[in-house]
Amino acid sequence: MNKLILPALILYAALAGCSTTQVPAAKPQASAPTPKPKMQEVVIDGVEGFQDTPLEPNGKWHVHDPARPQPPVVTPGAFSAQATPPSDATVLFDGSSLSNWRDKRTGSPAPWKIVDGAMVAAKGDIQCTNEFGDMQLHVEFCEPEPGNHSGQDRGNSGVFLMGRYEIQVLDCYKSKTYADGSTAGIYGQHPPLANACRPPGDWQTYDIAFTTPRFGPNGEVQSPAYVTVFFNGVLVQNHQSIRGETNWRVPGKYVPHGPTGPIALQFHNHPVKFRNIWARPIALDNEP
Ligand code: MG
Repeated sequence: MNKLILPALILYAALAGCSTTQVPAAKPQASAPTPKPKMQEVVIDGVEGFQDTPLEPNGKWHVHDPARPQPPVVTPGAFSAQATPPSDATVLFDGSSLSNWRDKRTGSPAPWKIVDGAMVAAKGDIQCTNEFGDMQLHVEFCEPEPGNHSGQDRGNSGVFLMGRYEIQVLDCYKSKTYADGSTAGIYGQHPPLANACRPPGDWQTYDIAFTTPRFGPNGEVQSPAYVTVFFNGVLVQNHQSIRGETNWRVPGKYVPHGPTGPIALQFHNHPVKFRNIWARPIALDNEP
């Protein structure tokens, strides 16, 4: 049991009348609100993170554990920057218009701005009006100058597949953060196989193959989602299974949903730029 919870429960039990003294029963919400355990950020070897979070299923690391090893640094080569979309791709952003995008929360027009052919994150998350199932996705992004910011507070955004499963966007160029929140990590679950970050101000690419999760008639997971990610041409997620919806401080849990969903982009207080976004619905095989 969490060290903070046990004393809190003893205090609560005493106040709520578990002792033999006869006192009128008090309304718990009025007299003894149960204190929430405090979150405790820890710093290990210069990495900010948490060890009061649940363990990942492998039992070795906590969610956002700063002790989890850093991905090895790989300097990327040239790859798919400014790739021309294949003929069957759905172009979601070509630099000219945000008409394919909406505010994720309200559904109103996307509150991001277009500057020099790139869209710049602002105000809130956005998602595209198209929905995709299994797909290939190309996204380019550019990180802002970080100033003296560090860790997760450095060019944070994210590509949410089906609006639910985040491939982290972050500036980890010569900068550490908890491994499961690194650039191209499946947030809170699987660190990338390598740190292939380019410096802030350089354009970078994600080329993603995604297989949706399959749910049974009662919402049970028949097959998890899988994702393969090339980050600046470096393979960093290799048909990796996703453990469920990604979120802060939790290990991931599936919530049943339909076979398609939008692509969402996160606003996390940083003016991360995006360009040249296109997707191709794909079949799992070609065996008519
Ligand atoms: Mg993010």
